[in-house]
Amino acid sequence: MSKESLLSLKPLVALCKRRGFIYPGSEIYGGFANTYSYGPYGSELKKNISNLWWKTFVHKRTDIVGIDGPILLHPKTWEASGHLEGFSDALVDCKKCKMRYRADHLIENALSIDVEGKSERELSKIIFENKLKCPNCSSSDFTDVRHFNLMFSTRMSKTSDTDDDIAYLRPETAQSIFLDYKNVVDSTRQKLPFGIAQIGKAFRNEITPGNFIFRVIEFEQMEIEYFIKESDWQKSFDEWLISMQKWCDLIGLKKDHLNVSEHAKEKLSHYSKRTVDIVYDFPFGTHELYGLAYRSDFDLLSHSKMSKHPLIWHDLENRIKFTPHVIEPTFGLDRTILAVLCDAYEEEKLENNEMRTLLRLSPKIAPIKLAVFPLMKKPELAKLAKEIFNMLLDYFYCEYDESGAIGKRYRRQDELGTPYCVTVDYDSLEDNTVTIRERDSMKQIRMSKDKLAAFFIDQIINN
Ligand code: ATP
Repeated sequence: MSKESLLSLKPLVALCKRRGFIYPGSEIYGGFANTYSYGPYGSELKKNISNLWWKTFVHKRTDIVGIDGPILLHPKTWEASGHLEGFSDALVDCKKCKMRYRADHLIENALSIDVEGKSERELSKIIFENKLKCPNCSSSDFTDVRHFNLMFSTRMSKTSDTDDDIAYLRPETAQSIFLDYKNVVDSTRQKLPFGIAQIGKAFRNEITPGNFIFRVIEFEQMEIEYFIKESDWQKSFDEWLISMQKWCDLIGLKKDHLNVSEHAKEKLSHYSKRTVDIVYDFPFGTHELYGLAYRSDFDLLSHSKMSKHPLIWHDLENRIKFTPHVIEPTFGLDRTILAVLCDAYEEEKLENNEMRTLLRLSPKIAPIKLAVFPLMKKPELAKLAKEIFNMLLDYFYCEYDESGAIGKRYRRQDELGTPYCVTVDYDSLEDNTVTIRERDSMKQIRMSKDKLAAFFIDQIINN
């Protein structure tokens, strides 16, 4: 995205709806706040990113294995992890229009001061003394600040009216990894250091969600808990930071839109000695894209105590037992999609002064790799084009399109981020060659149809 178009997400949101990437949730019922649906092309993009992540961090590494744990975990999990006690936001309501805000966001936006760590009473005082205005109705009449837990709860039995059967939808994927630590150690041949990876849904009852899919109430995380000896934490942390930056490069994020932001020592969670965020310049400001935290042995120890099952590492060689420490790289999948789309979106003025909109997506993650067209809707051209399309389908997800002017078909594929189009014309029937048109440069070359598969494997998979 150019600096000018960084001003607004609107054109990107419109493209996502128009071209079937992302739709507002439950739209026919008037929408359901801060939920979204990934359409045919969005779900392909999402799968391509999560598959590439899995390939990069699980399949290509011998020290990491994957799991797929449940969304509903034993309620004691959240006692042990500290989420029941501490996973909350300080909220304030406007008494006039009933809008609810995160107190820290309200203050930070109005006064540009950092209020992390302040108590409910201190936050209320700042709001009252500075006569902060409700961003919705401009009234200065707020309730006191109160904490609300961000976890969604549900009931396990249909009949009980006590609180005994409350279960929580997981607010992060990490905890189910800790719960399966012993199972993985017992059932695989991993040696310390090793990691357990997971991709899955997490749910947070965020009170000030927004900015499209940046902050939603249901989202996906791609997380790794990497188990180490305590003495190795600094080395492992540095290595993970590099691996995360390489990942950003792999999916085509622009280096000058990324930064590393170190959490100040006094703001770290009690169990963490170091946490950094990889931040990205979104059109609405610079915000966390990913996190990297050294979580010490806090989680395994807490679950050991709560469950009375020792979650330890048995070093047979040195005949010692200890609780491993943990480095946690965490990647939000939906935020990845947003960042990738922001970097790929471009409105370009062509030589003939026409505007074209395109997504410069890396071919590795583009939803459609190739589109095959007959130049015109004629049976003899369609026959050869379909033959080529079916041949390429064996290797790539492709699209066949024969309706409308060829220029419009190219523009549609530009907006879908399709890296190459293949066009069959009357010359193709004579000499078996076709036109390949490249998305970014719009350059066209002629190639024998027999060489297409090898050419695209080289350009899309090996490149
Ligand atoms: P934030 O400060 O933005 O609320 P966080 O520090 O609470 O994020 P983590 O708990 O570290 O986030 O979650 C790990 C990752 O999950 C984040 O880096 C982000 O990519 C993603 N994530 C967290 N909350 C949301 C959300 N509400 N919607 C979409 N993605 C999210």
